[in-house]
Amino acid sequence: MKKPIIFCDFDGTITNSDNIVSLMKRFAPKEWEQIKDDVLAQNLSIREGVGQMFHLIPSARKKELLEYLLDTTEVRQGFSEFVNYTRREEIELYIVSGGIDFFVYPLLEPFGIPEENIFCNGSDFTNKTITITWPYACGEDCTNDCGCCKPGILRRFEGEAYRKIVIGDSITDLEAAKQADQVFARDYLAEKCKALGISAVPFESFHDIIRKLAEEQEVYDEYSRETLERTC
Ligand code: MG
Ligand code: ZN
Repeated sequence: MKKPIIFCDFDGTITNSDNIVSLMKRFAPKEWEQIKDDVLAQNLSIREGVGQMFHLIPSARKKELLEYLLDTTEVRQGFSEFVNYTRREEIELYIVSGGIDFFVYPLLEPFGIPEENIFCNGSDFTNKTITITWPYACGEDCTNDCGCCKPGILRRFEGEAYRKIVIGDSITDLEAAKQADQVFARDYLAEKCKALGISAVPFESFHDIIRKLAEEQEVYDEYSRETLERTC
């Protein structure tokens, strides 16, 4: 059997809302809204837009930004149980996030996910304003200028060995969802999958996802048992 491997989005999926939007609303001058509109209208790529937005905020406010998110960010129900479930079942779990390291790592810290399993953008606070860095920018095979290239990350796990499972909520998860064997989607991603005929399991909490994965595991175990009994 192919080995299940999970790629889970962060903002709006693990957390209930988008952390970059929360930060901009709270800390950026109102020019950020024009940048956001340009991204939505696809006049700017996600990478350009996110880079420009953070350039509106002084590096000196780093501590305040993080404290604000640690105080206000809500993690979706069942996430902790979900991480434990993947550990128990020995399912590889990767977080693929268009968020930024300075908040993604601290917000995920309580769940004990190894850092090498977290892909996100980087940050540099040595200039006057915040500079975002792009350790997982698109390679030659992607022309989206994603910032954190989720389809590129999935392609690292190419081959017959894996059954890829994508969990996400937004447009930035769509190209990854197209490569996946199974998709769990909410919000915009769910609508978009439906429109494109990509089958996706809806979810509200991570309990929904555990339930579905556990059901499938049971069906598989049953099948293996029967096959074994027949051959013995
Ligand atoms: Mg998201
Ligand atoms: Zn890309």
